[in-house]
This record gives sequence, structure tokens and C-alpha cells, in this order.
Amino acid sequence: MIEILNITPITEWFASLKQPLLIAGPCSAESEEQVIETARGIAKIGKIQVLRVGVWKPRSRPGTFEGAGDEALQWLKKVKVETGLLTTVEVATPLHVEKAIAAGVDILWIGARTTSNPFSVEQIAQALKGIDIPILVKNPVNPDLELWIGTLERLNRAGITKLAAVHRGFYPYERTRLRNIPKWELAIDLKSRFPNLPILCDPSHIAGLASLVPEIAQKALNLSLDGLMIEVHRNPTLALSDAKQQITPAQLDSMLKELVFRSPSSPNTDFVDILEQLRNKIDSIDQQMIDLLAQRMRIVEEMGEYKKNNDVSVFQMRRWEDILKSRIDFGKRLGLDEDYIKNLLQLVHKESIKKQADILNRKDKLSTE
Ligand code: PEP
Ligand code: MN
Repeated sequence: MIEILNITPITEWFASLKQPLLIAGPCSAESEEQVIETARGIAKIGKIQVLRVGVWKPRSRPGTFEGAGDEALQWLKKVKVETGLLTTVEVATPLHVEKAIAAGVDILWIGARTTSNPFSVEQIAQALKGIDIPILVKNPVNPDLELWIGTLERLNRAGITKLAAVHRGFYPYERTRLRNIPKWELAIDLKSRFPNLPILCDPSHIAGLASLVPEIAQKALNLSLDGLMIEVHRNPTLALSDAKQQITPAQLDSMLKELVFRSPSSPNTDFVDILEQLRNKIDSIDQQMIDLLAQRMRIVEEMGEYKKNNDVSVFQMRRWEDILKSRIDFGKRLGLDEDYIKNLLQLVHKESIKKQADILNRKDKLSTE
């Protein structure tokens, strides 16, 4: 179902920018030289239209670097004049909004932590009443699509029509290869519910590591997302925040040369896009399934060790019956066939038993989870 966000002029403001929209810049503003030198390197590439800078940084722990604050807005003014780049900063409070707008910042962005908090979003929306400045809305920390949409709606109701979303991944419960889990299927759902809404990707916060940024950026382009927001620092090793995931302007330049940009002008784009989007949803879900199977197996191993150390290993028929019954019931409620779930569980269970049997050194005991 297509829902209507009142964002009709959106296509105009976004279409007036280069496609796909490329945004780059340091995680945080540290010093005038750092901001201006990084901006120069970015502008020189000739493909980036917007400089991103975190002026006020939301940090998990107090006492860590929180951005240079108000004075950095003056550095951004200089950057605009010298390089012609547009500027975007993160706003989290009405005071940020007021100061950023007064300093002539072109685009505002709402960070993941703020999107997660409807009280803050409402205050920002009120501060923006009557000012139709473009706003990028990052996804909330947790994979809650309604919360993401809710933030867009609150802004929209305050009269903001120039909106775009940014997929920056979701907080992982377990340590994974990536800093934040990309749930492409959520971004795709958002796109199908609001076809007018441009969706960008922030590969830096998904990757968490500079070396993984290109692969995530390519994935976003393959999905026909509308742009990228990339963290770039003149000297990432010295960065005061997110040092591991920032790349240099030179690395950005070579990454952009290697990325494959899909042509938006293929006559069959719609058809190809839909198929591609469905395939990408499946890919993303399969990856998450395998990740979960790996997590499950690690717990099975832990149980194996535990049983071995306590010498309490027996095949627990009751437990297995409970597992089967509860999972089959759960599957049925979701419209899945009983045999499908049973076969799948038997496979998973068989492998778990094998793993525990290995751990128990193939003694005479069989165990179940
Ligand atoms: C950032 O862009 O530097 C940032 C803090 O991002 P997020 O809100 O996505 O964590
Ligand atoms: Mn950052």
C-alpha cells in the first residue's frame, strides 16, 4: 500500500541536486584547518555536492570529544565561499536548529539517536515551523520502521516537505563484521511505501571500518538508493571520533572511480528495479538467517562445554518435543507449513547434536539442546 506523506515538492528539491547525491565530510568538526583542508580535498574530486560535518556530536560516553560546537559554523561559512560545496550538519535540539539556520547551513540532518526519540523530534519539528529547509532523517538505532516513518511524519506535519531518509544500519545485538547491521529490506519497504522519498545510505556507520566502506556503498548503489553520505577526514588516524571508519579524500576519489553507478536511464528501469529489490531483500534476509544460525551454533557449543564439564549429558526427549511443538505452532501462526518447519528444525537439531557429540569427544553420551 502506498501511503501519502505530504512531500510533493520533494522530487523538485532533490532532482535539482546531482544524482546520485554524494555527501562527504568529517565525522566531527575538530579545528578550522581540519574542516577546511578536508573540504578542499573533497571539493577537488568534483563529484561531491555537499559537505557533512558533525558540529555537535552525540557521544555514548561523556568526556569524549563532542565536536567543536558553535564556532565550527563559522568554518562552514568559509568552506561554502571557498569551495562552493553545500553544507549539512546534525541537529538534535531546537537551539542547534536556530544556530545552524542562522549560519546559513543548507541541509539539516537528524541523527539515529534523535530519530529514536519522538520527544526530541517533536521539539525540533516545532522549532522548524515555517522554515522549509531540506532535512535528512537517519534511521533509528533499532530496526523500527514505524519510528523512522514517525520522524518523517512529525517533520512533515510541521511543514517540512524537503525530506530524505538515510539508511545507516541498525545496532547489532551481537558483535558482527559490521558496526551496524544493514537491513536493506527495511529501506526497500520504506521506498515502496513512500516512492517519492529519496533514500540515501551512510556506508561509513554501517561499515565501522574504512576498508569495508566501498562494499557497502556498492550495495547501496545496486539497490538504486538515491545517494551516499560518507565520512571523510584529512587524516583519519588522528580523528577525534570514528577514526576507524573515516577515509581520506584521496581514498574517496579512488572509491568513486571504482564504484559501479547504475544508469538511471535504462528503459526498463522499473521492472529491473523491482526484481533487483526483491532479490536484494532475499539476500539480506538470508544473510541474517545464516548469521543467526551461526549465533545459535555458538550457544550450542557453549552448552556442549557446559554439559561436558558437569557431566550431565543425556538426550532430552522432552526438550526436543517442546522445541518441535513450539516452533511448529509459531510457524503455523505465521502461515508456514508444518512439514517445512519440522524438516528445517530436524536439520538444525541434527547439526547441533553432531557438534555437541564432537565436544563430548564422541563418548557414549548423546545430548540434545
Ligand atoms: C554521524 O553521522 O556522525 C552520526 C553520529 O551518525 P548516526 O546518527 O548515524 O550514529
Ligand atoms: Mn560518525
